[in-house]
Amino acid sequence: MAERTGGKLTRRDFLKGTAGVAGTAVAVELVALGIDPRPVEAKALAVPLKKGKEVPSICPYCAVGCGQIVTVDPAAGKILDIQGNPDSPISEGTLCPKGAATYQLVDNPHRWTKVKYRAPGSDRWEEKPLSWAMDRIAERVKETRDAAFNEFQDMPDGKGGTAKKRVMNTYAIASLGGATMDNEWNYIHQKLMHSLGVVFVENQARI
Ligand code: SF4
Repeated sequence: MAERTGGKLTRRDFLKGTAGVAGTAVAVELVALGIDPRPVEAKALAVPLKKGKEVPSICPYCAVGCGQIVTVDPAAGKILDIQGNPDSPISEGTLCPKGAATYQLVDNPHRWTKVKYRAPGSDRWEEKPLSWAMDRIAERVKETRDAAFNEFQDMPDGKGGTAKKRVMNTYAIASLGGATMDNEWNYIHQKLMHSLGVVFVENQARI
């Protein structure tokens, strides 16, 4: 155990006593805040790791690219667990709350499989199948794009005036992505939106 000075753990004591704590820079910050993470580390180490074939991977959620170890049961074709990879030079075994919950991307009994729909003017939500919602979104996108597609638009001509230029876009549709969209999904989503001529594309999980 590291020694305390006047009841407070010093930065030097902490570094001496917690060589096994992942993320030294994080540990230094915690000490600076007067927080001793060792009880939490001890509790985490006491949790038995699931046994299986360990496959190094990368968190799918954002451009930080934290390292993960995916523990699998090849015979059953199942993922058993997903943890941070201590060998990753990017994240040194740590994952943010979203990355730490990656397992639930493949296995989550609480995942909603129906959508909530509130019709125009209605004061109540109805449950609808996901396939119904997908068809409805496709219909609305088609209607909106057909009604508000710009083939040409007045643009600056570089001489102080304007000139009609081919733009092939629509300002009537916007796309806002969510935190659970992974990198591959975002890539395909961008391709789809740009092929439709959508220019307002954003993802709230950008880091
Ligand atoms: S979502 Fe979190 S764990 Fe995943 S790469 Fe980004 S910061 Fe790392």
